[in-house]
Amino acid sequence: MADAINFPRPVPNIDDEEFWNGCNRDELLMQRCTACQRFRWLPKPMCPHCNTLEHEWVKMSGRGKVFSWTIIVHPVHPAANEKVPYNVAQVQLDEDADLIMVTSLIDIDNDAIRMDMPVEVVFIEHEPGVKIPKFRPV
Ligand SMILES: [Zn+2]
Repeated sequence: MADAINFPRPVPNIDDEEFWNGCNRDELLMQRCTACQRFRWLPKPMCPHCNTLEHEWVKMSGRGKVFSWTIIVHPVHPAANEKVPYNVAQVQLDEDADLIMVTSLIDIDNDAIRMDMPVEVVFIEHEPGVKIPKFRPV
């Protein structure tokens, strides 16, 4: 039997390593500028609002709502051959309307997904030691 093909794992970099470390502890962390107090996503070295290089990591509630979604029907990676159709969603976090994550929704049929549906984060083990944030209805 052939080995299962997995989707690529995240490869943390200097800007988002703390985010991925948080996921592995079941914590959803976002960068917040320590000067202007605005959140930013994706993680980056400089605040796009005030150009400050300083930031802190803040634990989010993990709650949000469905901002948009699509259903993938054509596999774009060999790992998707057995998974289509599957959803890819944008979830807007409750803490800040600018925090919109690309993710996927679990524990729901694709046909039941709705705009503004309340969801919460859940951390799924992609492979040992690597957790990925996904969202489920609440
Ligand atoms: Zn700032």
